[in-house]
Amino acid sequence: MAYGFGGLIFLVVTAAVVVIFMRQRNRPACPGCGLSVDRDLDECPYCGTAMT
Ligand SMILES: [Zn+2]
Repeated sequence: MAYGFGGLIFLVVTAAVVVIFMRQRNRPACPGCGLSVDRDLDECPYCGTAMT
């Protein structure tokens, strides 16, 4: 029972990490400063470079 509960927590944590990792990968990098920014922005919020 305890083993099954631990396995469930492991699966949930792994799934959360994968989701966060995929979200980070989907964020485009700024051509000016290289930081990842939100997809729907017209310009980088950090350095002001226009996003292509
Ligand atoms: Zn930038």
